[in-house]
Amino acid sequence: MPTMIELKVPDIGDFSGVPVIEVLVKIGDKVEKDQSLVTLESAKATMEVPASAAGVVRELRVKEGDNVSQGSVIAVVETDASVEAKPETTQAATKKTEPEKKPAASAEKPAAPEQKKTAPSSAKDSGRKPDFECQVCVLGSGPGGYTAAFRAADLDLDTLLIERYERLGGVCLNVGCIPSKALLHAADLINDAELMASHGIVFGKPKIELDKLRAFKDGVVAKLTGGLAAMAKQRKVRGVRGVGTFVSPHEIEIETSEGKKLVRFEKCIIAAGSQAVKLPGLPWGDPRVMDSTDALMLGEIPKKLLVIGGGIIGLEMACVYDALGSEVTVVELFDQLMPGTDPDLVRPLQQRIAKRYAGIYLKTKVASAKAQKNGIEVTFEGENAPKPQLFDRVLCAVGRTPNGNKIAADKAGVTVTERGFIPADKQLRTNVPHLFAIGDIVGPPMLAHKATHEAKVAAEVCAGHKSAFDARVIPSVAYTDPEVAWVGVTEREAKDKKLDVGVAKFPWAASGRALGMDRGEGFTKLIFDKQTQRVIGGGIVGVHAGDLISEIALAIEMGAEAADIGLTIHPHPTLSESIGMAAEIFEGTITDLYLPRKT
Ligand SMILES: Cc1cc2nc3c(=O)[nH]c(=O)nc-3n(C[C@H](O)[C@H](O)[C@H](O)COP(=O)(O)OP(=O)(O)OC[C@H]3O[C@@H](n4cnc5c(N)ncnc54)[C@H](O)[C@@H]3O)c2cc1C
Repeated sequence: MPTMIELKVPDIGDFSGVPVIEVLVKIGDKVEKDQSLVTLESAKATMEVPASAAGVVRELRVKEGDNVSQGSVIAVVETDASVEAKPETTQAATKKTEPEKKPAASAEKPAAPEQKKTAPSSAKDSGRKPDFECQVCVLGSGPGGYTAAFRAADLDLDTLLIERYERLGGVCLNVGCIPSKALLHAADLINDAELMASHGIVFGKPKIELDKLRAFKDGVVAKLTGGLAAMAKQRKVRGVRGVGTFVSPHEIEIETSEGKKLVRFEKCIIAAGSQAVKLPGLPWGDPRVMDSTDALMLGEIPKKLLVIGGGIIGLEMACVYDALGSEVTVVELFDQLMPGTDPDLVRPLQQRIAKRYAGIYLKTKVASAKAQKNGIEVTFEGENAPKPQLFDRVLCAVGRTPNGNKIAADKAGVTVTERGFIPADKQLRTNVPHLFAIGDIVGPPMLAHKATHEAKVAAEVCAGHKSAFDARVIPSVAYTDPEVAWVGVTEREAKDKKLDVGVAKFPWAASGRALGMDRGEGFTKLIFDKQTQRVIGGGIVGVHAGDLISEIALAIEMGAEAADIGLTIHPHPTLSESIGMAAEIFEGTITDLYLPRKT
């Protein structure tokens, strides 16, 4: 006989009349015990209410916007095992999710499938006398290129590094990770000082000396890039400045300030990276229209800034300019900021910035942008399009495109996809066995730490080692405020692939450390394979999430089970404790929260 059970809001601490911001199930859904039913949002935190029993939802007693308290009925489920469930949930219960050893590039968000191109036929050797000869030639000195060159040199290979710019370090050190984080640190300080005003420490409105801030950022970059130049010298890596293009499978021609130079190499590692996508139709000649490199120059603090693209780079720069005093508007084509990320992870960020920014418009695109005397006049299109507006500056941050089509790779016989990626295997070999490709040019995720790990493998393979890139996962971080970090399988991916997973979330509203920072809006989420109890994914939103995520990455790499994480003694009181506590939630051993007893 089927039984009807009411699923109620459990004891949620000192909260009552908490609004429901999202209903996560619908009538007819089969829910598992502990599956989230609704998301509640209090002034301090968002929390999901789990089902206290499994069954098929027959009635929903709440809708978005309702206020609930302990004991409010959320749904009524029919618990007879014979009730007809949705086919995917039946399958979900039987599917195993043994973590596979697979290249991390595919473990993360894969690139959209592209038409396979046939390999071009390479050009003949030029027959010219080379200006340089080397065992390994590395094209591009970003985190991929310099790491590959240094590792190759450390393995006693005579190495030459080609870079078109004066400074080594590529996008990451010069116009990416490092300068953006220096500015985000300044933004954090401003925000922290502002937050403390409500707790009795009032610093007042910050005075921003833009020239000094820019000099600080430039100083950080100079220190690091200078360090690279010194290390290249110590390792006897020869550097040539100029733009390199292939002439044949063993030759690259470099356009230098002293004319064309020819390099002949035994092996080459292509690390030519990527560049910002410039949305067509924007008045790019106008200095008020910026890409991320321009935005990092800190030319001025615009009164009104439009950020086109709600991805990581756009939101990080929005964070900087918001803290510096700009009125920020963000438009994003998709229905979510940081598309592809689990929506619950993005929510605390969105809630914070929604209160600070002039507008966040999802499912919206820029229809036109015209340079006027007094600003850039922008019109929008889409479901939530705002009225045309004038902005003092516009930042276009809609993604990055690989440089594969700019190095005459065809002359070397190297396959390049239409989008400009150069496919490589686990040893980072292209279709031409003595030519390797690493970093952004190989494919997503376009992240510096992926590039450096690939670089070491490529260099080691050049030296005859049996190395391969077989990382299980690659973490991603948005250094926004709060930070958002995730690694491995996401909840969304688990659902799409019908993986049999258990999800445990520790709300930072229960973390003494987070509350002591008045930043209890975050949470730590672990995703476990129910069969093996192994952690296969995780996400953290909150301050310092980017520093915390490594523990989850290590746990996944080591095949750690929930008990391994829960029984690891984390120091108290720390934010890292939240990882141990999330594992305890999965284990049912948590004492820092009250969870209804499992029967
Ligand atoms: C604003 C911003 C913030 C970012 N923040 C982060 C972050 O926090 N964390 C993170 O992991 N990633 C971040 N990234 C991404 C990161 O910078 C890249 O993933 C990383 O730099 C890729 O390294 P790479 O070695 O593949 O290529 P690149 O860094 O792009 O380096 C390629 C190098 O090759 C040179 N080159 C290209 N073609 C030629 C040629 N024909 N001849 C000579 N030289 C050539 C280029 O000048 C460049 O120096 C950020 C990017 C941006 C734009």
